[in-house]
Amino acid sequence: MPPIKTKYIFVTGGVCSGLGKGTAMAAIGAILKTAGYTVSVMKMDPYLNIDPGTMSPYQHGEVFVTDDGYEADLDLGHYERFIDEPLSRLSNITTGQVYQKVLQEERQGVYLGRTIQVIPHITAEIKNRINDAAARTKPDFLLIEIGGTVGDIEGEPYLEAARQFHREAGPDQVLFILTTLLPYLDTSGELKTKPTQMAVRELHRMGIQPDIILARADSKISKDLLEKIALFCDVPLANAIPCPTLKSIYEVPLDLESYHISKLIFEHFGLKGKKPNLKEWSTLVRRMRSAKARKVMVALVGKYTAHGDAYISVHEALKAAAAFQGVRLSIIDIDSEKLEERDAKEWKRLRSANGIVVPGGFGNRGIEGKIQAANYARENKVPYLGLCLGMQIMSIEFGRYLLKTKEVNSTEFDAEVKNPVIHIIPEQRKNLEAKYMGASMRLGAYQCKLDVNTLAYDAYTAKTSHAVPMDNKSGAVTISERHRHRYEFNNDYREKFVEAGFVFSGVNPEKNLVEIAEIKDHPFMLGTQFHPEFQSRPLRPHPLFRDFMGACAKR
Ligand code: GLN
Repeated sequence: MPPIKTKYIFVTGGVCSGLGKGTAMAAIGAILKTAGYTVSVMKMDPYLNIDPGTMSPYQHGEVFVTDDGYEADLDLGHYERFIDEPLSRLSNITTGQVYQKVLQEERQGVYLGRTIQVIPHITAEIKNRINDAAARTKPDFLLIEIGGTVGDIEGEPYLEAARQFHREAGPDQVLFILTTLLPYLDTSGELKTKPTQMAVRELHRMGIQPDIILARADSKISKDLLEKIALFCDVPLANAIPCPTLKSIYEVPLDLESYHISKLIFEHFGLKGKKPNLKEWSTLVRRMRSAKARKVMVALVGKYTAHGDAYISVHEALKAAAAFQGVRLSIIDIDSEKLEERDAKEWKRLRSANGIVVPGGFGNRGIEGKIQAANYARENKVPYLGLCLGMQIMSIEFGRYLLKTKEVNSTEFDAEVKNPVIHIIPEQRKNLEAKYMGASMRLGAYQCKLDVNTLAYDAYTAKTSHAVPMDNKSGAVTISERHRHRYEFNNDYREKFVEAGFVFSGVNPEKNLVEIAEIKDHPFMLGTQFHPEFQSRPLRPHPLFRDFMGACAKR
């Protein structure tokens, strides 16, 4: 399909946060993509942090990492999974970044003589960022989520910028979607539309009329409620779309399209759009729902288990792998501190699992529990997948077994340890010493060369895997994966480990850093210094997750 002039879709949220407007937007992106259009996305975060990199997973959920090493909001992960396009730092704006840029320019004298104000200077910078992203990625559709809830003080500059953008780009180039909640009142036994009406009024106050309203509720939404929303909020009835809570987020594209959302969007922009083809999505949903499939339990051993979103990409990668393998997945959150305290119940839960994942993490807390889980996995031949910290844990555990001493650790957890099998990456030392925490890790995509005859090699070169560049002579394969870490395997220990059956199946060719480690004579015990979960897609599970799940299913 020939490219069209970029069309802009702004997605806002009314009534409260946590409605899933990011999911709705990602689903719309998926629908447009299957209709043959190119799609890009942006998330505007009204907080003052420069990026979410230094926020605790308790506060903000997972930090997602893009190829260009940007530490992003977890919504970018949803977007990548739904539209299957690698995003970059262009896809996230925070208020901190906007102010930083404007204030830097003020110091440079760009605004000499003028008073800097939210309107027009901050709003102009927001619009610049939208135009820049559109110019660089040239998508047919640029979907822009305005974080927070309509009515939030910190969100107002973004709504004002969107209003100006609508005027300047031309009303036929811009579409506004409001995602809103219909609360249920037990006493009257009904869903209420008043908060939605108030949210729309608030948008009107900002000069914005939504074109489509996505009404969220936990239960079915009747036609008369949609009629009420249409009448009071001034949208055609077809544009008031019910969005009841679904079993899985991957059903959202199918559900939205059952209300012909693509047609509404194409009509708004005067396009003769093609019909989306959601066959792959319906197959995925069917596979995920299959009640007959064998149950596989995977233990996720972490310390942020209380926050559901802290390991969201890991969860989604496991779900995709389970759908691929045709098994019914149950994820058991294991608190590593409880393992450390020898909590019998927690250990019983761990033992009930078919496989163990140790995800990424920072700091000392719960580390010994994770090492014990790796020890249990190695000795009992339970499938194990270590992600970043999980690879380091696996190495420490193996080191303790090999060197027959507990004095083996990462210098992150014990700076003076006798056997530092994991130590700081030399370039990272200065950041740590300077206590400089912002965007200061080894971040983003780096290459990794795989050794033949390893689990990793077999996974990446299997027929169903992503295409990988292969060296015709040696058969070696080079892959690219995303990183977020300061510590690495200490090469002084490489030889000893290899002799004892530890396999270094992937190494970064430029810096000779260990990227993938495996254990010989074990059905599947593999750790990666990178985060494969960031490149897993629901329709294209990551090869390592896929094979890990395959091993779990066999147990
Ligand atoms: N804390 C470890 C490091 O910085 C692991 C990081 C991670 O798991 N993302 O190297």
